[in-house]
Amino acid sequence: MSNKLLKPGVVTGEGYATLVAAAKSGGYALPAVNVTGTNTINAVMEAAAQANSDIIIQLSNSGAQFYAGRGIADGFKAKVVGAVAAAQHAQLLAEHYGICVAMHTDHANRALIPWIEAMLDAGEEHYEKHGKPLYSSHMLDLSADPIDFNLGECARILTRMAKIDMSLEIELGVTGGEEDGIGSEFEEAADNSKLYTQPEDVLQAYELLNPIGHFSVAASFGNVHGVYKPGNVTLRPEILKNSQSLVQQTHDTKPNPLHLVFHGGSGSEKAKIHEAVGYGVFKMNIDTDTQFAFSQPVGSFVEENARAFKHQIDPDDGTPYKKFYDPRKYLRLGEEGIVARLQEACDDLGSKGKSIAG
Ligand SMILES: [Zn+2]
Repeated sequence: MSNKLLKPGVVTGEGYATLVAAAKSGGYALPAVNVTGTNTINAVMEAAAQANSDIIIQLSNSGAQFYAGRGIADGFKAKVVGAVAAAQHAQLLAEHYGICVAMHTDHANRALIPWIEAMLDAGEEHYEKHGKPLYSSHMLDLSADPIDFNLGECARILTRMAKIDMSLEIELGVTGGEEDGIGSEFEEAADNSKLYTQPEDVLQAYELLNPIGHFSVAASFGNVHGVYKPGNVTLRPEILKNSQSLVQQTHDTKPNPLHLVFHGGSGSEKAKIHEAVGYGVFKMNIDTDTQFAFSQPVGSFVEENARAFKHQIDPDDGTPYKKFYDPRKYLRLGEEGIVARLQEACDDLGSKGKSIAG
């Protein structure tokens, strides 16, 4: 069988399920990269094309708001229309990069359930017109709430999403650290047991959600958002293996029945990443590292050409600086930084050369 299974572009429904299955059976995971505007979204697609890897593009609620523009006074509205704009951008352009793109939104906690519902309003409207949703999947992270509320809401939202061929990412257990204002601040002295998902909770989620539709689980195995000094948290990927085994044995499924997601992978040991991928992780989130990869070359450029950022024409010798302060000059350096960093991510996750777009 050829590994060229899908048309290039944004994949949803069956296409998304095929992408997830291909990653798991191929023993690799896809980078899921947070974006905040056209520079970052295009850089991620360029990186995927260069690596011949499929890719997941995601927006946090504040990323979506930034995409719409900070000038929109109604912040909630901006989070919705910004998310719609980003998805439409990708739906239009992704096919021209020759790879498959899954569009996704990142953590939505209890307060952001209305954000998910408003995006689903737009998704349903898009589905009516085009026969496919705007997004491949959304994440509902109610891990800070009691598990019965968490899973009850996930079931309610997934019921709605399944009708328009969408997948839901849920979270069980708490990813440490903070991302875009969401999450628990990691404290070294705190009780760390919540940083490790209980397999029994994963089994309960599987039994409730699997009959409803396609879903994935962000399980906590000591992962922490952001980059911290090494040694503060121990990654225990065997927790993922234990969850898979419990579901497999209880329901007599094939190996690795769950679609698992790795949050907070920045700075993780490569061996632990490989181990997690072996236990059914098909998606690893990347935000912190690509933020730095964008900003670092921009910072160097400004430093090296400081006078061009103070004067249009050099006051001493009359040199015109337009070719330095044209925003395309330094924004392109940021894009190239992301493209380079994601080659490394695709290598680490084993997705390089594995695109199933043909
Ligand atoms: Zn996360």
